[in-house]
Amino acid sequence: MRIGNMYRDGSWVPALSGATREVYDPADQSVIGIVAEGDAADVDLAVAAARTAFDQGPWPRMAATERAAVLLRAADLLEARLDEFALIDTLDSGKPLRDSAGDASDAVGCLRYYAGLVDKPLGQVYNVPDPDTQSFVVREPLGVCAQIIPWNYPLMMAVWKLAPCLAAGNASVIKPSVNTPLSIIRFFELLEEAGLPAGVANLVLGPGSTVGQALVEHPGVDKVAFTGGGASGRKIMQAAAGTFKNISLELGGKSPCIVFDDVDIDVAVDWTLFAIFCNQGEVCSAGSRLLLQRGIHDDFVQRLAAHAQRIRIARGTEEGAEMGPLVSPEHMQRVLDYIELGKQEGAKLLCGGNRLTSGEFAKGNFVAPTVFDHCTSEMRIVQEEIFGPVLTVQVFDTEEQAIALANDTRFGLAAGVFCRDVSRAFRVIKAVRAGITWINAYHPTFNQAPWGGYKESGIGRELGTFGLEEYTEVKQINVNLADGPVGWFGN
Ligand code: NAD
Repeated sequence: MRIGNMYRDGSWVPALSGATREVYDPADQSVIGIVAEGDAADVDLAVAAARTAFDQGPWPRMAATERAAVLLRAADLLEARLDEFALIDTLDSGKPLRDSAGDASDAVGCLRYYAGLVDKPLGQVYNVPDPDTQSFVVREPLGVCAQIIPWNYPLMMAVWKLAPCLAAGNASVIKPSVNTPLSIIRFFELLEEAGLPAGVANLVLGPGSTVGQALVEHPGVDKVAFTGGGASGRKIMQAAAGTFKNISLELGGKSPCIVFDDVDIDVAVDWTLFAIFCNQGEVCSAGSRLLLQRGIHDDFVQRLAAHAQRIRIARGTEEGAEMGPLVSPEHMQRVLDYIELGKQEGAKLLCGGNRLTSGEFAKGNFVAPTVFDHCTSEMRIVQEEIFGPVLTVQVFDTEEQAIALANDTRFGLAAGVFCRDVSRAFRVIKAVRAGITWINAYHPTFNQAPWGGYKESGIGRELGTFGLEEYTEVKQINVNLADGPVGWFGN
């Protein structure tokens, strides 16, 4: 059992109201933690601490390499505790240990990547028409950043937000999901040990509707960086409009896997299963729409369904677990409702479609890997993000049809093309309106490359140099090189 408080101005503090909330293991609903439950008053104090740290503290003013040293120490501390963090995220979110171990390693890499980026060439220099002026651009920290994250990658999402924000010299107030606060609480202990000055990063806990909303409306906040669902993203964009905050939004998706008939079917089945069922399908970039060229459809779906039924579903802590429970009973019910909807809409259920309730599964949020065939673009299960282990299958004949189906969505987060004809693969991926794409692969993600979507999948990019720029303001500096008077007036 873990007891967790909020972190404000370098101290661990309970909620001002004294309120707490229980945290559950989604494998059996047992209580695994009790954490502080903040409200708007806690947000006020956290923003004030961040404001002071940014406006008067050493962090934005110190050498960037000194900031990097703190991040590198945090990376070392985290790396020494990968197993501990993997276990916390598995207990909290349900995902298998092999997945949460990968997330923790990625978080270490992300901290090191941004620590390494701070002293690399940045900015631009201009030759302007006036020979007596040298014009150039510097990037400066933006200020106090409200950072709001979801539950599907608790530690990794926190580090994706904190690492570039802190590297660039900003101050942060971060809020995790009420479902999964435990690993970020532990990570703040490491930031403290790494020597982060008081007030530079502050942790508030509580629901989005109160704590999150207070944070994004707060006049002391300069930027909102949000990852989560579209409905919340819309509210956040509206709330941030009050003081014209800089915003970046990483939202949902309904991403296509496009498979042409020249592929090795077993290889493509392997990737497309991973595309949808990795992390129980609770992945914003999940390849949740499978588009198959007609000639291979029958063979492909038969092998796909057979393989999906062999996925090892178990409590995430169990050796060899490949899919764990969904994060909460409410989320599981939402996914099951979509499965019912799929049946009503006339899609053909190939496998899964049910909750697992026998024996060890009885108290957990386990849903079988589900594949619907004979789907059409009009169906809601094809258009709406389910965020669970549910795959829809559609058929196409021509390259043009594949592109049209792939783009027939309001989202534009990710896409994969499987095809041995390299020219065709490139043509199709270039025509797909999505920000993260793969050819003959799906999901590998790199701290060096930008992450984010087109259309309703978001605004801005995380990771890579793009991710650092999101946390900076651009300032132009013009230097007069001439000594004498110009003689503007009275000549
Ligand atoms: P959510 O939108 O319900 O919540 C995300 C976070 O926002 C939580 O911390 C929540 O408390 C907070 N929040 C909710 N309403 C808010 C409000 N009005 N003001 C301020 N904060 C608010 O999403 P979720 O259920 O936690 O996560 C699932 C969603 O996240 C999916 O749609 C998924 O696609 C998306 N997601 C996107 C990415 C990406 O990189 N694009 C990554 C992971 C998850």
